[in-house]
Amino acid sequence: MYRTHTCGELRIANASQTVTLAGWVQTVRKFGSITFVDLRDRYGITQLLFNEALNTQLDANPLGREFVLQATGTVNERSNKNANIPTGDIEIAVTSFKILNKSEVPPFTIQDDTDGGDELRMKYRYLDLRRNAVKKNLELRYAVGRSTRNYMHENGFMDIETPFLIKSTPEGARDFVVPSRMNGGQFYALPQSPQTFKQLLMVSGYDRYYQIVKCFRDEDLRADRQPEFTQIDCEMCFVEQEDILNMFEGLIKRIFKDVKGIDYTDAVERMSWEEAMWQFGNDKPDIRFGMQLCNLKFPAHTFTTKPSISDLIAGEFAVFNDAETVIAIAVPGCSEYTRKQTDELTEWVKRPQIGMKGLVFIKCNTDGTYKSSVDKFYSEDKLKAIADAAGAKAGDLVLILAGTEERTRKATSELRLEMGKRLGLRKENEFKLLWVLDFPLFEFALEDQDGGGAGRWVARHHPFTSPKPSDVDIMINNSPKVEDLDKYLEHPYATIKANAYDMVLNGNEIGGGSIRIYQKELQQKMFAALGMTEEEANHKFGFLLGAFEYGAPPHGGLAFGFDRLCSILGGSESIRDFIAFPKNNSGRDVMLDAPSAIDDKQLKELQIQLAPTTKA
Ligand code: ASP
Repeated sequence: MYRTHTCGELRIANASQTVTLAGWVQTVRKFGSITFVDLRDRYGITQLLFNEALNTQLDANPLGREFVLQATGTVNERSNKNANIPTGDIEIAVTSFKILNKSEVPPFTIQDDTDGGDELRMKYRYLDLRRNAVKKNLELRYAVGRSTRNYMHENGFMDIETPFLIKSTPEGARDFVVPSRMNGGQFYALPQSPQTFKQLLMVSGYDRYYQIVKCFRDEDLRADRQPEFTQIDCEMCFVEQEDILNMFEGLIKRIFKDVKGIDYTDAVERMSWEEAMWQFGNDKPDIRFGMQLCNLKFPAHTFTTKPSISDLIAGEFAVFNDAETVIAIAVPGCSEYTRKQTDELTEWVKRPQIGMKGLVFIKCNTDGTYKSSVDKFYSEDKLKAIADAAGAKAGDLVLILAGTEERTRKATSELRLEMGKRLGLRKENEFKLLWVLDFPLFEFALEDQDGGGAGRWVARHHPFTSPKPSDVDIMINNSPKVEDLDKYLEHPYATIKANAYDMVLNGNEIGGGSIRIYQKELQQKMFAALGMTEEEANHKFGFLLGAFEYGAPPHGGLAFGFDRLCSILGGSESIRDFIAFPKNNSGRDVMLDAPSAIDDKQLKELQIQLAPTTKA
């Protein structure tokens, strides 16, 4: 037997027992004729004491950091207790030991505050995983998974595996492809999600399906994305949107309870996509704080049909007059910002990531006066009217951005989040869930996103999402053709809403799904709306259209981003920290050195010839 106990287990109650531990040497401290060793395993750290006699043996076989050691001895109460670790009351007076394996000096210290940089830790991920900080994250991930499985099981869901070597399932990214040796010249695609399979399972009558499953998307890696990531993927049949919302807010509340000990008893708030864009400039708003957008000016053909209040800013100020969109936010308690502070904010919005040309402010002084960077153009009464519209109170600072619609809305949303952060309104330990509902069915791809080309309508969620029943006719009765690309927002397709929903947690989209199309004819019309010919649709999705001919039930579902959910619950910005073996920002596994070239023999077997420029 290698060990009788773990390194995290022994307490004062075990005093005088003879035990054997096995683990990794964290530190070796020699004091004259005795040596202390901290021995570490997954469960904790225990102090070992090597007496004078054993010290001689240690001299002959010196221990180093990360050596694998087995030690037998007696549990003794420590004279010098360490209140920082659970085993700190005891130590093991070693009577015999064995070095099970040696270790090179590790390239970084295996401690919470390690000296290793990102790349180095990724290269030696198996050492990084020994660190407490990383281990805690994987433990949390495991707890989230276990809580999910319990809840799903208790609610009658069956975990059913779906294949990885498939034909494309579009989720708006490029497919990773795998060449088939046995079918020369042909390729499998890796699933961007199990979407079509879970729908087929509904056709097969497995009315409650779930899976904690890998998905693969070849997209330009924006910050904190991974080419392979994990979803909690779910589908149900004979349900309406309301059933799904209830079932899955139940899941998230259960995870909160099991993993964080939080009783989330509040009703989960709901907001339409239009309201989210209008009030927060963003389809995944952080509702832990207010500071909502005041839409002073916006173009007629946009996402909303709300009435304009642009009269409020009518005047001689060319920047506002020329802008498509002008949006204000009222930042609480900041009217006394100095020139330096407003200048800094102006620089902040001018950064390329935000991309604005400038920032207008109105200080709502506590004495009831108004001071602004545009005093020249607006009377104090006008400034007050604008500030009032933005919901500002005495003592607040109104910040106003102006420019093109999309950029200005996005920038104001970013500015709101930044001010929320600076003012401490985005509290780490506060969790606020929100359902965003009624998304648009389509979005117009001005630029190519998935290799399918630009200047066309794409499914905002995916092509299997059903339109709102009241909007079906708009889809069927209009051609998808957009004559003038600049005016795509005027096309009837821009107004069609979907039976789609996202769950948002503290400003992060943690999950999303939809009620699906389940009638063959409507699905065919959807493919046509997305610019597919009948042949193309049959070639790509004939199996699904075929299945819809054999009694497809009404169904719907959603998927949660498992890695993201874990990272939010763990209070981290990075999903990488919650994945045992993640890729870096260029999609590389630096430990394995993958992707890498394959040899000519393999290429030949696969009947693949590389273009000269790519040959490694
Ligand atoms: N397959 C979808 C996704 O990955 C989720 C769903 O519609 O259920 O976003």
